[in-house]
Amino acid sequence: MQNPFENALLQIRRANEAKKFPESFIERLMRPDRQVRISIPVTMDDDSQKIFEGYRVEHNNKRGPYKGGIRFHPDADMDEVKALALWMSLKCAVANIPMGGGKGGITVDPKLLSKTELERLSRGWVRGMLPLLGPDKDVPAPDVNTNGEIMNWMIDEYEKLTGEMSGATFTGKPLSNRGSEGREEATSMGGLYVFNALKDSLNLEGSLRVVVQGLGNVGGNAALLFQADGHKIIALSDSRGAIVNEEGLNVEAVMQYKKETGSVVGCPGTKEISQNDLLTLDCDILIPSALENQITDENARDIKAKLVLELANGPTTPDADDILFAKGIYVVPDILANSGGVTVSTFEWEQNQKGEKWTKEDVLARLKVKMEKEATSVLDNSRKYNTDLRRGAFILAMERLAE
Ligand code: NAD
Repeated sequence: MQNPFENALLQIRRANEAKKFPESFIERLMRPDRQVRISIPVTMDDDSQKIFEGYRVEHNNKRGPYKGGIRFHPDADMDEVKALALWMSLKCAVANIPMGGGKGGITVDPKLLSKTELERLSRGWVRGMLPLLGPDKDVPAPDVNTNGEIMNWMIDEYEKLTGEMSGATFTGKPLSNRGSEGREEATSMGGLYVFNALKDSLNLEGSLRVVVQGLGNVGGNAALLFQADGHKIIALSDSRGAIVNEEGLNVEAVMQYKKETGSVVGCPGTKEISQNDLLTLDCDILIPSALENQITDENARDIKAKLVLELANGPTTPDADDILFAKGIYVVPDILANSGGVTVSTFEWEQNQKGEKWTKEDVLARLKVKMEKEATSVLDNSRKYNTDLRRGAFILAMERLAE
């Protein structure tokens, strides 16, 4: 497993080779402003006590409050959170929103906790991180294995302790508790807008064959939205396995099956394949929507997609980037492709502070304008500097941060 923070630093160095920035700026960008590690004691349902490790990394707030999700995962650690926080600073700059970069996490397998234990753990993270948080300081959101319900517990704990009641300290809240229309599908919708803005320039027209890795918030919505946009979803996966049907899957039926059984594997009318075979299937668009380090120097040569749309953070390693580039496969980088999530989170933050409630049409129209504009800026940059889309996006973000 490659260290995601080392990979993020390497991506910065590589962008800096394509366009030279002042060395002092590069050095600053490579170091997070603050890294916090806390112990969270939780009383378990059997009255025993377990202590969990929690993290918050505040990478950079030159453009606005630190912003970024909280991940609950057994492999979450400080290096992963540091990488994700750095990518958030760059992502918010690419999306041109008034936010800086942060990220949080807890090392835990949430599947092993009861709901009440999960609630106590979530509230414990907020108590431990309280000095950092606030609508103008640091604004968390959901990420892998966290969702609107967890944001509900977290904002409730925060409001009890501070009396600050705008709701703007956490985004990704449910609609019934000051959430924004469109937030649930924002990351995937943003990815579709980015894809549609680039497809003609990248010669990818018509109905395409799509493979999606990960069927959570991001992957599930991506599969539904690409299907609704006229494309054929031929393979899907979750942490337990992968399935294929070359004729096209019925995404709603697969999601229903997963809801009932806990996995996509065994869904009628589909064939099980290995996780790696899913990535190397013959298709037009590959959409990684799970975790880091999925496309590496070990499998990149076998990738057959024409375009990789990175809705996950950090799914492609730098050496895999070079292999894909040499093969003529476009990689739409995470800091552009999945920036729709933080963009609508920022809309939620703005609505909370103004006491407004925007319609879904309004939210999606604003998102579309932003995604199309920045997708074009990234493409222009990659052409200007004669490089790949990742370096094009990094250069755009670094220009805005340097300014
Ligand atoms: P989630 O917890 O809702 O879903 C994760 C999915 O990935 C689950 O279906 C899980 O089964 C699957 N998965 C885990 N390990 C896997 C593996 N090895 N192979 C295949 N599938 C696997 O999380 P999410 O919010 O959808 O986040 C997914 C990715 O998108 C992460 O990289 C996250 O950082 C990124 N992202 C999320 C948002 C957001 O708004 N939620 C925004 C931007 C980026």
